[in-house]
Amino acid sequence: MTKTVDVKQETARLLDKLGVSREVWSGGDMPTYSPVSGEQVGALKTVSAADAAQAIEAAHEAFKSWRLVPAPKRGELVRLLGDELRAAKEDLGRLVSIEAGKITSEGLGEVQEMIDICDFAVGLSRQLYGLTIATERPGHRMMETWHPLGVVGVISAFNFPVAVWSWNAALALVCGNPVVWKPSEKTSLTALASQAILERAIARFGEAPANLSQVLVGDRPIGEILVDHPNVALVSATGSTRMGREVGPRLAQRFARSILELGGNNAGIVCPSADLDMALRAITFGAMGTAGQRCTTLRRLFVHESVYDKLVPRLTKAYQSVSVGNPLETSALVGPLIDKQAFENMQKALASAKAEGGSVTGGNRVCDAGRDSAYYVRPAIVEMPKQSGPVLDETFAPILYVMKYFDFDRVIAEHNAVTAGLSSSIFKLNMQEAERFLSADGSDCGIANVNIGTSGAEIGGAFGGEKETGGGRESGSDAWKAYMRRATNTVNYSRTLPLAQGVSFDI
Ligand code: NAD
Repeated sequence: MTKTVDVKQETARLLDKLGVSREVWSGGDMPTYSPVSGEQVGALKTVSAADAAQAIEAAHEAFKSWRLVPAPKRGELVRLLGDELRAAKEDLGRLVSIEAGKITSEGLGEVQEMIDICDFAVGLSRQLYGLTIATERPGHRMMETWHPLGVVGVISAFNFPVAVWSWNAALALVCGNPVVWKPSEKTSLTALASQAILERAIARFGEAPANLSQVLVGDRPIGEILVDHPNVALVSATGSTRMGREVGPRLAQRFARSILELGGNNAGIVCPSADLDMALRAITFGAMGTAGQRCTTLRRLFVHESVYDKLVPRLTKAYQSVSVGNPLETSALVGPLIDKQAFENMQKALASAKAEGGSVTGGNRVCDAGRDSAYYVRPAIVEMPKQSGPVLDETFAPILYVMKYFDFDRVIAEHNAVTAGLSSSIFKLNMQEAERFLSADGSDCGIANVNIGTSGAEIGGAFGGEKETGGGRESGSDAWKAYMRRATNTVNYSRTLPLAQGVSFDI
């Protein structure tokens, strides 16, 4: 039998070990809870509006000197951050499990993702390339130069409480920008721990300006200060489409840049030639992993009628048998929902699916004795007669809607007939339909996969989605360009002044 973990004590132990002073997380005005036990584990001190504005102004000061530090040297700071994260992986991963309810391997995996992006950014710090461009004028040279942009504001969601910050911070720092972070009010302890880890790296680095990285603990209004402040050049905001709808226009109003990483309603298609064993594994991880609380969680599944009766009973069985439990005490594959609201939203969606003719397996609360305010649920699989009602929207909970399809063209149209456009998968072993799925008239998502699930992206690719997912891209590939400003430079090394397009202007 495993020992019962005292979640409150364990939180305090980890925060002490990670170097977060008690002053900032106890005795404050913002209670924070662990979904593992439902109990309050901290009371954080929130910043005032005036202090938040001051922090942004201080970051702007830091920008003035950080932008002049050569990029490979800035990379050295991020290399040290990666080092510190390696040393803290176990503790920070466990704190992620406590605060977001992730199972152990996913908590550790989230910290690994932070390490990976640091490695990526260190390499990037020597590769912030611009192009040299052929000019039409003799004796001229045209090129582009990438310069640091300014203060980067990060607003993050509860479900990736630390990785999203690192995707932004590692890139922003090598690109020459300070970072001001407003974490989710549900997961600010892990944010304070990440900041403490970065501060250790900054101390080792020795030459960083003060206020290069700051955390603003608070609710939405503090996020709004980041959004509206003229000294914040870019806001990278991760969260619901509702949040993006408020934040996007406000940023556009002042012509600030935005990276919006919003909700998803991700689908998979299982074709007649699919390897069903492989599909089963990918579907179960994609749909039930992180208790259905990933932006890339698989929520809609279209199965060809010829394989429906082979796959769906196996899937249903997996749903009935998957282990649900406390991530600190068991090796269960499904941890808790973040809170009561998430549970209620799930129940509402299931009731509405039933009303649309859906047949529901699972979805019931799994009670943990003595932990009445923790919300553990058995993931739900719902066979739907068609894509309607709650299937069209993201419910941030482990619900997989399964539908039968007959015709490939029609299923592609159904696949794309939702407002979100984040991630998608197709399962099949021959080429034509897979290539079609990846083509211009295939999946309309930012992420389209073949024979792997919708979730679990690597940091090397650009991450983000289309339509109501917001259009932003962060992490790998050339996502760094959003964190810099591009200048086109033309140099005339001749002794004449030819004008472009043959214009003459002789005085
Ligand atoms: P949420 O929208 O409730 O909150 C996200 C963050 O936005 C929080 O820090 C919150 O304080 C802040 N916020 C909310 N309204 C704001 C406003 N008007 N101005 C400024 N800040 C504001 O989201 P959540 O419940 O924490 O996270 C779940 C959602 O996030 C899901 O929809 C999920 O799909 C999405 N998500 C998307 C991605 C992605 O990369 N596309 C990644 C993770 C989560």
